[in-house]
Amino acid sequence: MTQKNILAGNWKMNLGISESRELALDLSSLSGTLSKTEIWVAPSFVCIPAVVQATHGSPLRCGSQNVHWEAKGAYTGELSIAMLKECGCSFAIVGHSERRHIFGESSSLVAQRALAALSAELTTVLCIGEKLEERESGNTDNVLEEQLSPVLEKLTEQQASSLVIAYEPVWAIGTGKVASLTEIEEAHASIENYWKSRIQFAPCPPILYGGSVKPDNFEGIINIDLVAGALIGGASLNYDKMKAMADISES
Ligand code: PEP
Repeated sequence: MTQKNILAGNWKMNLGISESRELALDLSSLSGTLSKTEIWVAPSFVCIPAVVQATHGSPLRCGSQNVHWEAKGAYTGELSIAMLKECGCSFAIVGHSERRHIFGESSSLVAQRALAALSAELTTVLCIGEKLEERESGNTDNVLEEQLSPVLEKLTEQQASSLVIAYEPVWAIGTGKVASLTEIEEAHASIENYWKSRIQFAPCPPILYGGSVKPDNFEGIINIDLVAGALIGGASLNYDKMKAMADISES
């Protein structure tokens, strides 16, 4: 079976419980009509139970915006894999650029999060991406490799099967600037090549693109061969925009 396009919404610190429930309900009805597209949402932590309850039985997948590697303990502000699973999360995002650059999460810390979630067979969306100055100094590939390397170093075949990569150039997130189709294609190819140079036991996982994706630019992006879907911030908060992108993905 060919892989369905993934439209993953990262709601970040937006939408309260009733707003999240309402949008999730609309998206769950939509997801039930789709044959080539999966819709995933990552609400804020406190909204996850409401979203899971409201969309129970629909193909909509609910996930978290982060996850900790330890099973329990003195980790203020963190959530364990078991807690997320108990709430009904079926995936977790790790290494989002806001975590890396606002909260200072290093690639090795992100790898701890990713490897623990993967070991528990929790689908893990590992975000990687370069800052503008890194692109301008010709270091995009080095940055992507530096961010992937600590995960690939320890990855097992079993863990690889739950991994999704999201290429998100930092300069395109929430800025309205989208990478050109060529830039996206080159970055995805470079990720795939690096994967193949390091991992022989598993194919390169699906690679999502993220960075100011919206209905206006989605068609070009989703038609790139190595793009398996999109990780969407701002536009994912709007049902009509998600519906428009789902329609494009289905066509
Ligand atoms: C994101 O936060 O992952 C993202 C891509 O945001 P936006 O779509 O708003 O650029």
